[in-house]
Amino acid sequence: MTTSLPPSGALAPLEQSRYLATELPGPRSRELAARTCAVVPTGVNAMMPSYAVRAEGGIIEDVDGNRLIDLGAGIAVTSVGASAPRVVEAVQRQAAQFTHTCFMVTPYEGYVEVAEQLGRLAPISGETRTALFNSGAEAVENAVKVARAYTGRQAVAAFDHAYHGRTTMTMSLTAKAMPYKHGFGPFAPEVYRTCGSYPLRDGLDGVTAAKKAISTLEKQIGADRLAAVIMEPVQGEGGFIVPAEGFLPSIVQWCQDNGVLFIADEVQTGFARTGAWFASELEGIEPDIMTTAKGIAGGMPLSAVTGRAEVMDAVHPGGLGGTYGGNPVACAASLAAIETIEQDGLIEAAQTIEAVIREHFAQNADERIGEVRGRGAMMALELVDPATGEPDAALTAAVAKAVHAAGVVLLTCGTDGNVIRFLPPLTISEQLLREGLAEVTTALSAN
Ligand SMILES: *Cc1c(COP(=O)(O)O)cnc(C)c1O
Repeated sequence: MTTSLPPSGALAPLEQSRYLATELPGPRSRELAARTCAVVPTGVNAMMPSYAVRAEGGIIEDVDGNRLIDLGAGIAVTSVGASAPRVVEAVQRQAAQFTHTCFMVTPYEGYVEVAEQLGRLAPISGETRTALFNSGAEAVENAVKVARAYTGRQAVAAFDHAYHGRTTMTMSLTAKAMPYKHGFGPFAPEVYRTCGSYPLRDGLDGVTAAKKAISTLEKQIGADRLAAVIMEPVQGEGGFIVPAEGFLPSIVQWCQDNGVLFIADEVQTGFARTGAWFASELEGIEPDIMTTAKGIAGGMPLSAVTGRAEVMDAVHPGGLGGTYGGNPVACAASLAAIETIEQDGLIEAAQTIEAVIREHFAQNADERIGEVRGRGAMMALELVDPATGEPDAALTAAVAKAVHAAGVVLLTCGTDGNVIRFLPPLTISEQLLREGLAEVTTALSAN
C-alpha cells in the first residue's frame, strides 16, 4: 500500500466520529489481507482485519475511509492517543537528532530521564534503579534474571490465569496453552504455578485465597527455593481478574517474610490505565520489582524494569542490556507521554471511563453478564450461561463479531474466551465511548 500523507504536523485533526464508508473489512482492506496471507505466517493473525492509515483520540481510520471507534488502544498501549501531539513532536525532534547510539556504547540523557521519572512515579519507597528494554516480555525476562541474581535462588512462581508474554521464559510463566504455548515446548525450567484469586469463580475472600496459594508455594516448591513470585495486579489476558481485597497484600507479606521477591507485572495495568499511575497503589502493595511497557511511551516500543536499588544493583556490570533497549526515540516519546498523562489529567480520565462503563451496564443489565469488573479504563464483562454460570465463549465471539461489523474495535480475553474487555485510549470522548458501549448492548440483545 502506498499512502502519501503529509508530515504529521501538517495533518488536519482526525474527525472524532464513527463513519462507515464500506462494509467491514472494506475492499482495500480485503486486498491487503490477501497480500498479507501471501507473505505473513498464519501464526500472526489480525483480530479485525481493517488496515489502519491514521489513528487519534478514540478513532482509527482505515484504508477504505472508515472511521472506527477504538476500544482497544492497540492492547492498552496508546493510552495518550495514537498520535498525541507531545509524543509526535518529541519523536520528530529526537529522530532528527539521532535515532540510536546504543546506551551501552554511547549513553544519552533521555534514558536517564525516563529512569528518573520511573523512580519518581513507581510505588516503591527508597532508592530505585530502572533498566530499559523493548517489550513487555523482555522486561519480565530481565526481572526474573535480576531476582535470581539477587536471591541466589532459581524457582519462580506465577498464578493461574497469568499472562507474562511469548518468549520462552514468559510463555512458561503464562498459564494459557492455546494459543500461547501449544506446540512450543519444552518450557523454561524452575517455573511453578499456584492458584490466584478469582472472586466470581472461587468465592473466596482475599486472605483465604492467599492462604491456599501460599500453601502450594510452601509445600510444592519450598520458600527457600523461590527467587520470586510474579503477578499482574489486575490479570489482563487471563480475563481482567481483580483479586479479592487482601489477596495481594497477603502474598507480598509472605514474600517479605520468606526472602522471596515480589514482581508486579504492570505491563498492562501501568501508566494511568487503571486510574492510578500503577495498580499496585490501589492494592496498597509495594513490589520489589515492577515491570512496565505498553502505555509507557505513547505507542513506541519501550519497556522497563524498576526495582529497589539494592535488588537491581545485585547484577554484575554488563549483565543487563541489549542493542535497542531504551532507544532514544522511544525514551523521548515516553517523557512526552508521561507529561501528557500529568498535564491532561488522564488518571482522572481513566476513572471517568470506569464510571461510564459501570453506569452503562448497570442501566443495560443482562443476565448473561456474570460480572462487570476491572479498574479504571481496564474494564471487562464476563459472559456466562445464566442457568449454570458456565463461561459462554460462543456468545462472546458472536458479540465481538457484531460489534466489529458495526465499526467498533473491541477485544476479548479470558482463559475461557468469555470476557469482553474495554481498553479505550484515555483520550476517547465520552460520546464515542458511550456509542461503542451501546453497540455491545445491541449485539448482546441480538445474540
Ligand atoms: C502484554 C503483556 C506482556 C507482554 O508484553 P509484550 O510487549 O507483548 O512482550 C507481559 N505482561 C503483561 C501483563 C502483559 O499484558
